[in-house]
Amino acid sequence: MSDLYKQAFLRGFSDNPNQKEDFSLFESMGEFFERNVSDAKNFFARFQTVRDRVAYYKSKVMADLANHLIDFESRLNAQGGKVIYAEDAAHALAEIEKLVPPTDNLFLSQSELLHEIGLKAFLKGRRQTFFLSDLQSLPYPLLPEPSDKILSELIQAYTIEDYKPSKEDVMFLYKKHLINRLYSNSTVITSADFLISDMGAAVISDQGGLNTLYTSFCRKHIVVAGIDRLIPSLSEADYFTSMRAACSMGRNHAWNEMIVSGPRSGEEIDGPEEFYVILIDNGRTELLNQVHQRSVFNCIHCQACQVLCPVFKFTNRLDGLSVKGPLNCVKDPICKGFEDNAYLAFACTLCGKCSEVCPAKIDLQELILYNRKEAVERDMCFSIERKQMKLLKKMLLKQKSLDSGFNRFSIKMKFKKMYGTQKEFPDFGKKGFRLQWQENIRNNNKQ
Ligand code: SF4
Ligand code: SF4
Repeated sequence: MSDLYKQAFLRGFSDNPNQKEDFSLFESMGEFFERNVSDAKNFFARFQTVRDRVAYYKSKVMADLANHLIDFESRLNAQGGKVIYAEDAAHALAEIEKLVPPTDNLFLSQSELLHEIGLKAFLKGRRQTFFLSDLQSLPYPLLPEPSDKILSELIQAYTIEDYKPSKEDVMFLYKKHLINRLYSNSTVITSADFLISDMGAAVISDQGGLNTLYTSFCRKHIVVAGIDRLIPSLSEADYFTSMRAACSMGRNHAWNEMIVSGPRSGEEIDGPEEFYVILIDNGRTELLNQVHQRSVFNCIHCQACQVLCPVFKFTNRLDGLSVKGPLNCVKDPICKGFEDNAYLAFACTLCGKCSEVCPAKIDLQELILYNRKEAVERDMCFSIERKQMKLLKKMLLKQKSLDSGFNRFSIKMKFKKMYGTQKEFPDFGKKGFRLQWQENIRNNNKQ
């Protein structure tokens, strides 16, 4: 393994922003998800059938992606919306730059995809203020600016200094403040959970009700979505949204999702004047070309694998955006290159928890193993481990070397340590297989 890979491996884990005291929070999230995943079957009369259908419909749409994209685009165009294709994150940001003048009041939803294209960093570089749509941001509105600046802005706008407002008062005023800004030159950028191809519509989560508010009163609405988010039709959408609600929220129905399908039409009283969908590839086509790994596109984004993975649950962030997870272990090396991301294939312990809990029946553990194989073939693994495995293979393939008590003892000492203390290392017999076999034959002959 070159120095480059070693550095990428170490950097990947030293980036973890969590402190030790945060661990209890991730443990309780894990308990919550564990309960939801195990209770999910109670929400469906035929749970396994729904799981099978989720996997089937998603793989069907991915097998015919080009036609579904054309279908989606033509229907959205007919409703007055526009589709923009973006090859990668830089292309998507360039399109956003063209659509959003620096003077616009900009509202963002918190999402994994906006994180993937680095939108916040881009806006900070452009010195553009933006509002977030999650409730956590309300006591500290106008993130990423410091809270005193926000308070002083509110004090100025509403002369709240006189009566020492409570936190609730500040939140109320902040909402009022947001609505005033929404009415003038506002752009909202959200990401889509799913895109319904036969409707030309996007399904968008709305955690605290603010996305509905924003998208109803803004002037321009930009939806960012990966090309993998397409589902065939509205009738199938229910399988995806209800399975996701059951596994990630412990509910039988997702009440916090809205379907948007273009700008406001003549007789409607709210909705944006302009509506765009930026469809991002960003390495997804490369993933689609992989015979095995492409099955990650069946994902319904319930986050169960991320939260329950014994390794990656600690890389979650408090703002709900994962840094890395089982899905990244499969996607990142292919979409972003093995050079910087091969380390992810080795970070996994192959415990299988992610495959066990996945409602879309994705065998993540096996897919990670495919990436690990690819990384080894490209010589992107730790060279010491490679040498050890070669030596082990050589010893295990030679009967004589296995008969040697010294060799068996050395293997045991070497690999028992790597096994850790939580599992029992399968011990060798006192004698080698060949000797035991010969003894058996001798004993049988005597009898
Ligand atoms: S198999 Fe790997 S990625 Fe999946 S839960 Fe276990 S450690 Fe995490
Ligand atoms: S891969 Fe993970 S996030 Fe996607 S459906 Fe499966 S468990 Fe949920």
